[in-house]
Amino acid sequence: MRNKNSKIKIKALINEAANCVIIPHKNPDGDALGSSLALNHFLSYKGLNSLVISPSEYPDFLKWMPGENQIMNYDKEKESSILKIKKADLIFTLDFNDLSRAGDMGEKIKESKGKIVMIDHHENPKNYAHEMISQPEIGSTCEIIYDLIKFIDVKGINSIVASCLYTGIMTDSGSFRYPSTTAKTHKIISDLINRGAKNFEIHEKIYDTFSHNRLKLLGIALKNIEKIEYFPYVIITLSQKELDSCSFKKGDTEGFVNYGLNIKGISLSIILIENKKENIVKLSFRSKGNFFTNIFAEKYFEGGGHQNASGGISYESLLKTKKRLVKLLKSHI
Ligand code: 5GP
Ligand code: MN
Repeated sequence: MRNKNSKIKIKALINEAANCVIIPHKNPDGDALGSSLALNHFLSYKGLNSLVISPSEYPDFLKWMPGENQIMNYDKEKESSILKIKKADLIFTLDFNDLSRAGDMGEKIKESKGKIVMIDHHENPKNYAHEMISQPEIGSTCEIIYDLIKFIDVKGINSIVASCLYTGIMTDSGSFRYPSTTAKTHKIISDLINRGAKNFEIHEKIYDTFSHNRLKLLGIALKNIEKIEYFPYVIITLSQKELDSCSFKKGDTEGFVNYGLNIKGISLSIILIENKKENIVKLSFRSKGNFFTNIFAEKYFEGGGHQNASGGISYESLLKTKKRLVKLLKSHI
């Protein structure tokens, strides 16, 4: 069994611990929150004093997840979050592998005396954890957490844990369509449904909860799609003005970048989202096939992620970022 040693050691750490903190990456997505909440429910069931602290706010469409209302937000509750991190004897960092992905919180995690366990599926993990399970070949952190819980105590996968894990596997696999989706993924999903995950309800809660404004913003994004001449690439832009015109809220643009790949023959879609408050442009990359978006994002936009899905950041204006991006894409091999 892969990672058996790590699982044994993590099991021992859980048995020894009393106070545990679980941390997803900044701007957590379905997989980050799903894995964190699932593990949190499991550790509570095992008698630990456990808590999820998110480095930042997360989108409304995740605000139904079981236990979500007890998540602490580091941005809003800094002092008490720091206290909890200090008090923890065990810290899990989930769905990321570089402390910078936890924002300011990264420093606090580093300073803590607690044992750190990283569980993640991104490539090139940094060396900050006492124990880690790093499996870039797996489609979601939730699938790794499923394996871990099953290894420690399968009875811990009740309907609540199953719902959290289902959510993360579904969102990170593009609803079971990306190449990372395997027969094993479907076996896990089958088991989660058997254990009480209401698949149709979860789909509806995640995908059919657009506000009118969010749908209007999607309309603007779709109108803004531009193809790069002679290349199978498209770029989407959203300016602060366009975001404001639809009363943009965090998470509203989630998934927009994927629409570029709906065009026949297009193998790379990039969305550029202006953020005037922070004076940055956030980039999201999605590809099909051999375009390594993580390498491109890391090289040119201080970012990273997976081969086919990455993010990055630019400190130039929206227009300058776009111009630079087009130039880079044309010369990139
Ligand atoms: P998204 O485009 O949905 O924000 O992110 C896609 C993937 O890229 C996720 O796996 C996420 O963890 C990663 N990612 C997004 N932004 C960044 C970034 O600024 N730095 C790094 N290293 N990874 C990122
Ligand atoms: Mn993930």
